[in-house]
Amino acid sequence: MNYNKKTVKDIDVKGRKVLLRCDFNVPQDKATGAITDDKRIRAALPTIQYLLDQGAAVIACSHLGKPEPSFDKWAKKQAEKGKDPASLTKEKWEKTLEALCMEPVAKRLGELLGRDVVLAGDVVGPDAQAKAAALQPGEIMLLQNTRFEKGETKNDPELAKAMAGLAGADGVYVSDAFGAVHRAHASTAGVAAYLPAVSGFLIEKELEIMGGALADPKRPLVAILGGSKVSSKIGVINHLLDIADMIIIGGGMAYTFAKAQGGSVGTSLLESDWLDYCNEMIAKAKGKGVKLLLPVDTQCAKEFSADAQPELHDTMSIPDGMMGMDIGPKTIEEYAAAVKGAGTVIWNGPMGVFEFANFAEGTRAVAKALAETDAITIIGGGDSAAAVAQLGFADKMTHISTGGGASLEFLEGKELPGVACLLDK
Ligand code: ADP
Ligand code: MG
Repeated sequence: MNYNKKTVKDIDVKGRKVLLRCDFNVPQDKATGAITDDKRIRAALPTIQYLLDQGAAVIACSHLGKPEPSFDKWAKKQAEKGKDPASLTKEKWEKTLEALCMEPVAKRLGELLGRDVVLAGDVVGPDAQAKAAALQPGEIMLLQNTRFEKGETKNDPELAKAMAGLAGADGVYVSDAFGAVHRAHASTAGVAAYLPAVSGFLIEKELEIMGGALADPKRPLVAILGGSKVSSKIGVINHLLDIADMIIIGGGMAYTFAKAQGGSVGTSLLESDWLDYCNEMIAKAKGKGVKLLLPVDTQCAKEFSADAQPELHDTMSIPDGMMGMDIGPKTIEEYAAAVKGAGTVIWNGPMGVFEFANFAEGTRAVAKALAETDAITIIGGGDSAAAVAQLGFADKMTHISTGGGASLEFLEGKELPGVACLLDK
């Protein structure tokens, strides 16, 4: 996949209308609708400010949550969940849509920018059209939740065309929603068929650093893979085996590897369907001369609980009735040494159940090793990014990817529709 894409710096936007896809999918308080974390809105500010300073008129858009735009489908889904069909009224459905309106986002964006943000009452309807037509250079408006349109997730060309039409004949499309580039939706990919398409600064940075590390890494490239399940990381392991010099395994997936190698893993997380796959990956690593490290020791617990007392065992001989919860001290030492000697480290997946203080040490120690190494350090995956932030090492990393699912698909080497649709440099 080509990661070398044109950016807002490669196109003249002065006096033009820019349809800007952002990732404003922010967490909200269920009861009040208040935004509980505005990080994603803040992250979009540099691109927005640049476009406004350049004299563009900005038509921003994003999805928010998972509204169901069809009443019939909504009612069917609710009924399947066991809700009483008589209670499934149009009014109730409309309330679920109202809860996902862009008002709080427009308000917060306006506060952060220190200027008015015009909010459209629809996505491509008469209100959006009138407001887009009246928008002047240096002004910004926000469309309603793109997923209010049935065609959004289906990448309907009619919807894409109508969205692009808001920017007019001389319009430009700028994509800065890295968190959504793995989805081929109308607003993330479809619109690029109708407007010249470039990236904003967020996507530019993701492509430069993560794309760079995958295409032409500073070696040795060490990939640290953890998290809960092998099955959710098969693509990542397989792809990174093609490009990395060393693969380090931690987290819950380590026990399926250990079992596959003839170990006993007690009640640890185990995916029996993936034992052969683990052995295939070990064989692939051998064949390619890639070092593959498994944890040698493991902090175990009798039950999956925050108060469980840690007990140290060899990973290959975890007693019956005990489960692996975190990597042990010998493993930590070995993994930290590997990180120290690396040119690039890509990390996806916590080393243990870091949410429990008793089992956070492995993840903390690996994060600390990353913070202290001279290597380029890249964090992908939602829980991994949260762990690094929670442990206080976020500002010590070269790059923490802003997209959970998108960063995983990136590491799988998959083509990302929201990137592929942008103009090549
Ligand atoms: P990411 O979102 O970064 O890709 P994952 O979703 O794959 O990461 O995994 C994160 C989860 O893995 C965490 O909630 C963590 O508690 C869990 N995990 C790590 N080690 C273990 C383990 N030994 N047993 C069970 N769960 C684990
Ligand atoms: Mg996760």
